[in-house]
Amino acid sequence: MIFYKTEEEIQKIRESADILARAHGEIAKLIKPGVKTKDLDKVAEEFIADHGATGSFKGYNGFPATLCISVNEVVVHGFPSEYELKDGDIISVDCGVFYQGFHSDSAYTYPVGDISPETLSLLKATKESLYVGIEEARFGNRIGDLAYAIQKYVEDRGYSVVRELVGHGLGRSLHEGPEVPNYGKRGRGPKLNEGLVIAIEPMVNLGARQIVQESDGWTIRTRDRKPSAHFEHTVAIFKDRTEILTSHQYIEEVVKF
Ligand code: MG
Ligand code: MG
Repeated sequence: MIFYKTEEEIQKIRESADILARAHGEIAKLIKPGVKTKDLDKVAEEFIADHGATGSFKGYNGFPATLCISVNEVVVHGFPSEYELKDGDIISVDCGVFYQGFHSDSAYTYPVGDISPETLSLLKATKESLYVGIEEARFGNRIGDLAYAIQKYVEDRGYSVVRELVGHGLGRSLHEGPEVPNYGKRGRGPKLNEGLVIAIEPMVNLGARQIVQESDGWTIRTRDRKPSAHFEHTVAIFKDRTEILTSHQYIEEVVKF
């Protein structure tokens, strides 16, 4: 189901997204070699609770944590763990916040210490592809327009787009219609009408697009074990503009790449 939001509802998502943006900023300060990924999860959970909100992911279909932490060849949905980050890793931190009845969702992939130039290029291209998609996510366009734009941007640079996992509408539920794939054809799919709120989230692989699910039932990794990156924003469609409700501002004050 697709639910179009009123201005009042979008304001609540905006406030949810503001807590989320600042939670990401707290995590960004901690990303370095030697840090255990479960410690990042603890910080996020406490920060969100301190702001009168709850994490969207913990307990969602049994997911055990506040953050999805996906290191190197893990695409998405990894568990925080005893794993200690090491120089040369990349780590995707995906987080959702539930506040005043509404969810927000965003993700960022960080370099840990010094990473290879080839992996750094993957991160840059994936982040840029998110903004390329947002540029096409405007009133009157269709989902296929932004999906096509992301796919073209990514594939023109020699990377591949994960097909099995997609972005989504969100609001009172973390996952609502429509599906927001990162591949597709121009002019296809649902129209972007006023009040639509969607999470756009390209998942981009350095190697082949194929993925496998680990035996824990959640963790998704690349089949060829090459690195994968993931960036996500929650955006709202208005007649005259598209607003990015989440923000990576606090992350980018700490991390430069
Ligand atoms: Mg997410
Ligand atoms: Mg999402």
